Amino acid sequence: DSVFGQEKRYSFEKGLMGSPFKLVVYAANDSIAELAAAKAFGRVEELNEIMSDYRDGSEINRLSAQSGSGKWVPVSKDLFEILDISLSVSKKTKGAFDVTLGPVVQMWRHATRKGIFPAQEEIAAAMQKTGYSKMKLNRKASSVLLTQKGMRLDIGGLGKGFAAEEAIKEVKKLGITSAMMDAGGKIVLTNPPPGTDGWNINISNGSDSLKALKLSNISLATSGPTYRYMEYNGVRYSHIVDPVTGIGLLFHVRTTAICPNGTISDALATAFSVAGIEKTKKMVRKFPGTTVWLVERKGDRVAEWNTIKQ
Ligand code: ADP
Ligand code: MG
Ligand code: MG
Repeated sequence: DSVFGQEKRYSFEKGLMGSPFKLVVYAANDSIAELAAAKAFGRVEELNEIMSDYRDGSEINRLSAQSGSGKWVPVSKDLFEILDISLSVSKKTKGAFDVTLGPVVQMWRHATRKGIFPAQEEIAAAMQKTGYSKMKLNRKASSVLLTQKGMRLDIGGLGKGFAAEEAIKEVKKLGITSAMMDAGGKIVLTNPPPGTDGWNINISNGSDSLKALKLSNISLATSGPTYRYMEYNGVRYSHIVDPVTGIGLLFHVRTTAICPNGTISDALATAFSVAGIEKTKKMVRKFPGTTVWLVERKGDRVAEWNTIKQ
């Protein structure tokens, strides 16, 4: 239907990692497009087997189970990569992002289910088992040491971005050059659709302001108020935890991060939500090529900071 003729648009959707995953590809025929979808979603399923915190047998949970044993545990290339990126983001965000928050995330999950706010001692006990400096990585041996018993890794803050990035690699291997993977709001984009100058992506501040962007060869992620929160005594706590207090964020933050890598944009949307506008202004300089839109709501007060162009 265009001068570029041979390529058609195909769109596929699948529920994965607890979220809707959507793949768009421009391909020469149905069978290539379907193969791309099978490879992309298959890759996400493979990663979920490794990184799911819901299955005891997942590689990440088996690794956590060895915490405090003093053993360096050899891990798959995939698990090593995601932990390596996590650690590097932790260092650059002064711990606003922390992949070792598992014990605290688990505690809040149980509390939400029971509707009982955890006691201060319970929070302190869970917090005592966290801290990214207790996770050591050895790239040469592709192995991990968790120095303290009871540690638990949780890649919820960047797993979907990583999955999107990896899924797009599969699509590219098939020679497809125009593709988009939207992994529950964590988006990775390759070249623009044929005959256009970019993918049309809308982002918003969650209320009155909308931006229509044309983007390509980049990634973006939004973290924000979802149905995933805990309400106690009329107060809402986000599922994003402040690693200093061990408590879900109290104020309402919505963050969009745009940067060259999907794993990092996902991690940064989470980290900048924790850091808030003022600290993010400094932190973002450590991530070249990154723009952000951060909206903080504290009661009636709304503060926004936006460096996203267009
Ligand atoms: P979502 O994946 O729900 O869109 P995020 O990417 O912000 O949103 O990830 C939130 C998840 O990350 C939480 O459910 C939890 O598993 C984990 N998490 C919570 N707080 C942090 C934090 N400070 N650093 C890293 N991961 C976190
Ligand atoms: Mg997540
Ligand atoms: Mg995230």
